[in-house]
Amino acid sequence: MYSNSLTELDRAHLIHPVASYRSHEKHGVRVLASAKGATVTDASGKQLIDGFAGLWCVNAGYGHESIVEAAARQMRELPYATAYFGLGSEPAIRLAGELADRAPGDLNHVYFTLGGSDAIDTTIRFIRYYWNARGRPERDQFISVEQGYHGSSTVGAGLTALPAFHAGFGLPFDWQHKIPSHYAYRNPVGDDPQAIIDASLAALKSKVETIGPERVAAFYAEPIQGSGGVLVPPKGWVKAMREFCREHDILFVADEVITGFGRTGPLFACSEEGIVPDLLTTAKGLTSGYVPMGAVLMSDHVYETIAEGAGAAAVGHGYTYSAHPVSAAVGLEVLKLYESGLLDNGVRAGARLMEGLEGLRDHPLVGDVRGRGMLAAVELVVDKVNKTPLPASAEPARRIFDRAWENGLIIRAFGNGVLGYAPPLCCTETEIDAIVERTRMTLDETLEDPDVRRALRAGEYR
Ligand code: PLP
Repeated sequence: MYSNSLTELDRAHLIHPVASYRSHEKHGVRVLASAKGATVTDASGKQLIDGFAGLWCVNAGYGHESIVEAAARQMRELPYATAYFGLGSEPAIRLAGELADRAPGDLNHVYFTLGGSDAIDTTIRFIRYYWNARGRPERDQFISVEQGYHGSSTVGAGLTALPAFHAGFGLPFDWQHKIPSHYAYRNPVGDDPQAIIDASLAALKSKVETIGPERVAAFYAEPIQGSGGVLVPPKGWVKAMREFCREHDILFVADEVITGFGRTGPLFACSEEGIVPDLLTTAKGLTSGYVPMGAVLMSDHVYETIAEGAGAAAVGHGYTYSAHPVSAAVGLEVLKLYESGLLDNGVRAGARLMEGLEGLRDHPLVGDVRGRGMLAAVELVVDKVNKTPLPASAEPARRIFDRAWENGLIIRAFGNGVLGYAPPLCCTETEIDAIVERTRMTLDETLEDPDVRRALRAGEYR
């Protein structure tokens, strides 16, 4: 499809993230060439709606000249400024101020990273430092949630609870613990919201007791679990977990790398539950993917404890590219765009998306539809009564992605037959309707897949 040289060059030299290398060598790369709004064009000229905003990050959509201008202006004036040695740059300082202004509660202190994984890594380092500063070094145990994703750094990947990130990597570490997910569609306690909240609270309480209440440093949760399959907790779940942590002097970290910047509606999903975490991580929508950047937002008491604990000593955590001025300039411009209409459009488009996807429930393969705002999932099953997933022989991740691609739609197809959606907030009604329509075409074609048909017959089509 593409010039052989590029395909061969890729095969020979480019290692792709989270890929089966052997499968990639066999199937080759699809080269993306350009993009505008919510539409991506590949190297052969094929146009597709990007229903996943890159990797749930291009929240503003592609091709905003004002973002390009902001980056170019900053590159011309000052392409790099270290934040070491007491130095700084105007855009980074301003962006920190803007984020602190808008973040929930007293999350007034901002540590800029390069993305989400190092933001998580940064929280782990700061949390250890915090407990040491409080004279409680034994508080060194961390808890997160099954199906959670907290990045791919050596330690963060141990908080992540997806098997591929552990197998063969010697993870998780013995100080990293998990509680079951709230996953309403497949929760052993059923889908009653209060029952799910109670079960999660009981699981956290039990985990804390097993570890020893005086040993637990922090609990990590995504307001909506993204990479685990877009798992939306019942309303009140995040608040209940936050309150439990407060009562037990456990730091609560909200990982908003996906949910931040309009993905679920507001700038921060935590504000939908009216909670203030001790630390909040973000990335992706912060710069809308135009350049890399992440951030850790820290509450007053965490910052003060660390500052007091360190006294005159340097807190030894930093990156060459911390608070990068070009990324910060992009962040400032992106924030302006969010607040001059994009967030509002995202709310409208998100409601239409959810309504459209709900309309797919009548399809024989659709077991569940869930989401909030511009973050959604459709879970496929071959047996609606027993919720039997698509068989592995049907290669859901690859074949469904390929079918959607042929239909002019990029979605995320998870290996267990869950389809993930995170379109840019700029989507028009027509584009949202096309996402839904192309999904239905993709589902109809999946119904014809011989491996799916076999599994459907085995389940007698319930
Ligand atoms: N945390 C969450 C919730 C994420 O979804 C991701 C990435 O998808 C990360 C952390 C890691 O971010 P990055 O890929 O920018 O390192």
